[in-house]
Amino acid sequence: MEPLSTVILRPGEAERVLAGHPWIYQGAISRLTQPAADGALVQVKDHRQRFLGIGFYNSHSKINVRVIAPERVEVDQAFFEERFRAALAVRQRHMPDATSFRVVNAEGDLLSGLTVDKYEDVLVLQTSALGMDCRKPTIVAALGAVLSPRAIVERSEMASRKFEGLPEASGLLSGTIPATPPSGVSEGDQEIESPAPGEAPRSNSLVWVKLNRLRFEVDLLGGHKTGLYLDQQVNYRLVAEMVQGGQVLDCFCFLGGFALHAAQAGAAHVHAIDQSSEAIAAASRHAAVNGVAEKCSFETANVFDWLKARTTVGPHEKLIPPFDVIVLDPPSFTRNRAAVPDALRGYKEIHLRALKLLKPGGTLATFCCSHHVSGQMFQGVILEAAFDAHRLLRRTAIFTQAPDHPVLPAIPETEYLKGYAFEVVR
Ligand code: SAH
Repeated sequence: MEPLSTVILRPGEAERVLAGHPWIYQGAISRLTQPAADGALVQVKDHRQRFLGIGFYNSHSKINVRVIAPERVEVDQAFFEERFRAALAVRQRHMPDATSFRVVNAEGDLLSGLTVDKYEDVLVLQTSALGMDCRKPTIVAALGAVLSPRAIVERSEMASRKFEGLPEASGLLSGTIPATPPSGVSEGDQEIESPAPGEAPRSNSLVWVKLNRLRFEVDLLGGHKTGLYLDQQVNYRLVAEMVQGGQVLDCFCFLGGFALHAAQAGAAHVHAIDQSSEAIAAASRHAAVNGVAEKCSFETANVFDWLKARTTVGPHEKLIPPFDVIVLDPPSFTRNRAAVPDALRGYKEIHLRALKLLKPGGTLATFCCSHHVSGQMFQGVILEAAFDAHRLLRRTAIFTQAPDHPVLPAIPETEYLKGYAFEVVR
């Protein structure tokens, strides 16, 4: 093994690393024994020269070192293969029936800076740190060896890359994207793939993805984000079990995840709203492909405006709540801690109005994907909204991110999605 530069930490900075947290900020470092190249492997020691681990160095990032292993190992293809196999085993153990899931979730799988999603037989890779980015060929080879994908696509477009000095990168890294639907999609479904007259031809990087018992079409090269929100895969099922023939409203529906699961599980009707007309078009196509179109309606609208319009009544009018189940799954309203107060006002507003639209006995399924808003803060806001809406709530479920987004309590940043189901007692 070649000698590595040594990063010596300041006193008091070793505990976090020993506990398993991979981030070492600039301020935690006392010195380097010799200069290290950005992206290079370094070894980390505490102020008494006790060995703590090895990691990737980047002087351009606020996170100077991302620890990759607590022991001195070669970071080669075999190393990545072993980590990928371990990550895959977690998914197979906790989501045995899933065929599309996040295979590698960065810190949650001890691979800070690397995310890999599996959409059936196509992998989508994102690197958010230099150390991972410059090892992409090794990573691609290791993914090929462990998962034998038909193609590997890169979608490294997150804003955080600029903090690492990395430009955006996307494209096909290996293989070809299947242009045909996977087996199990019938002839009738294939017709939906051809654009209607007047409609722009759709991208040829579309892949059919199965979540639970539904099929979704994801544009792996052209679509926004990396495709679907895989972290709700388990919650789709859990929320769908609550709909029982009711009238359902899915707010912030994106490609229709909650809406379609609710329709398939026996909702009388589902109305789904998103401000993106592209998302709404995709969601209605998905409803057709999955045979639930007649139970669903879709609307391009701003949820804040829509809820406000539906809950504003004249002085002598009474609002008759129309819904049995309302799902609120907004985007993160916070980019940082400073935005938390505004975010809480936003959460309160939509909860207040949603609660007014729920029938007595109805269920609110609500999610918060901001790491900066804790479960306690989120529930506090819901309680304030309930108070203002004169509703008493019974909590019937607590949700979290699916097991393919592992939570490691020693790394608080790995936990971000929290959700609750509340029934309206009165
Ligand atoms: N529930 C979805 C994920 C929602 S992601 C799922 O399970 O897949 C957030 C979605 O909210 C995005 O599709 C975005 O277009 C939409 N959105 C963001 N702000 C909005 C607003 N003010 N009104 C309506 N939709 C909004």
